[in-house]
Amino acid sequence: MTTYRIAVLPGDGIGPDVTNEAIKVLNRLEKMDETFKLDLETFDWNSEYFLKHNTMMPEDGLDQLKKFDAILFGAIGDSRVPDEISIWQLIMPIRKQFKQYVNMRPIKQLPGIKSPLKSDAPIDFVVFRENAEGEYSNIGGSLYDGQSQEMAIQNTVITAQGVERIAKYAFEYAQKNNVRKVTSATKSNAIIHSMKLWDTVAEKVANNYEGIELESVFIDALAAYFIQKPESYEVVIASNLFGDILTDLGAALVGGLGVSPSGNINPEREFPSMFEAIHGSAPDIAGKGIANPIAQIWSAAMMLEHLGREDLATVVMNAIEKVIMQGQIVTPDLGGTSTTEQLGDAIANAIEEQF
Ligand code: ATP
Ligand code: MG
Repeated sequence: MTTYRIAVLPGDGIGPDVTNEAIKVLNRLEKMDETFKLDLETFDWNSEYFLKHNTMMPEDGLDQLKKFDAILFGAIGDSRVPDEISIWQLIMPIRKQFKQYVNMRPIKQLPGIKSPLKSDAPIDFVVFRENAEGEYSNIGGSLYDGQSQEMAIQNTVITAQGVERIAKYAFEYAQKNNVRKVTSATKSNAIIHSMKLWDTVAEKVANNYEGIELESVFIDALAAYFIQKPESYEVVIASNLFGDILTDLGAALVGGLGVSPSGNINPEREFPSMFEAIHGSAPDIAGKGIANPIAQIWSAAMMLEHLGREDLATVVMNAIEKVIMQGQIVTPDLGGTSTTEQLGDAIANAIEEQF
């Protein structure tokens, strides 16, 4: 029997609602499988915490998190706290300090969920978004504030090492899963310094993987192809910004934010990896009990896989698919009238049936 230590950060808005359902599912697995034991610890580091303590987490916050096997994260965002604070004092430090340089975002259409596309070709690919550098740097500044010549500069940082490690992770994944092509999102025709380095390093990595093709596609064209022929992608690598946009687009193709999970992965396992739905705190539906918990439950399944429990991850995914196929318990985002809790209960029960 292995005990897994999980840090839970429910966060703001619908974060706690959907995270509760993910924990419900994990607890049900623990009840059913005696080889699986959890040690969960919840941290109240959110916007409410900031309003009380003027910081998003205690000074030794990262030290406290370091000893866990993984982190389950809800969502952060509150109108009373600027994003610069909530994001840059909590999520970014965790991602950066824990070297979670791979942001894994499956774009997979679950059976029973409609795509807005007319084509019924199944959509099933994964985007590996570079998560530690790129366009989302805080290097830059502004000049001539408030004057007519006011200007701002925001730097993009692309390093050879940064591209190499994300590309390598994607090619390893492709190799392991018998995928013959990795698609790289680029824009080296217009962004001639940073994206050229991206291309060069991606090609260098690709050369080490015989039988797996590297296909570089300009980001603007790739966005269009995602709509026109999403079935032709299997593994995609993208920079921080490109990956962010592509995965929101991808999410929209397969049922929306309510069913889109992610993992922030430290492949070396030197630090805990963090799993979270890609959606935010959704202030418009916070407190109503109608958020779709599938994205967060699926993220918990990705966490199980990362912890080496593929068997349990499969049980969770089977349960999600079964409940969707039955079509009885559906939250409003997918056209139903069920609550967050009802959907979580149904998935937990569908888990129990598999033992
Ligand atoms: P944040 O600033 O925290 O990212 P946001 O307003 O930018 O918040 P999201 O929280 O991602 O964006 O929500 C965008 C839209 O998607 C909202 O209309 C929200 O209601 C909807 N949405 C997001 N997550 C879910 C979910 N789990 N279930 C149902 N609807 C959701
Ligand atoms: Mg958002």
